[in-house]
Amino acid sequence: MKLCTHCDSDMVEKNNFLGFKIPIAIVLILIPYGIFVCWLPFIIPGNYICKNCGREFRKVKEIDWREYEKMKELQKEQG
Ligand SMILES: [Zn+2]
Repeated sequence: MKLCTHCDSDMVEKNNFLGFKIPIAIVLILIPYGIFVCWLPFIIPGNYICKNCGREFRKVKEIDWREYEKMKELQKEQG
């Protein structure tokens, strides 16, 4: 499972910026030779957004769900 690197929340969402990339691709198609570069916006990797702390980041913490359960238990013990 994917966790936020800042607050360890599992409320992370992938943001592919498609609402941003598609218009750029359309504009590129319309310009001369743009057809050759219109795919470029799509190779830019998406970001992750944490709904808990609101931060954006490229990499998420990938952990096993069992590990996650253990972590939650530990957090509970610590209060
Ligand atoms: Zn977070």
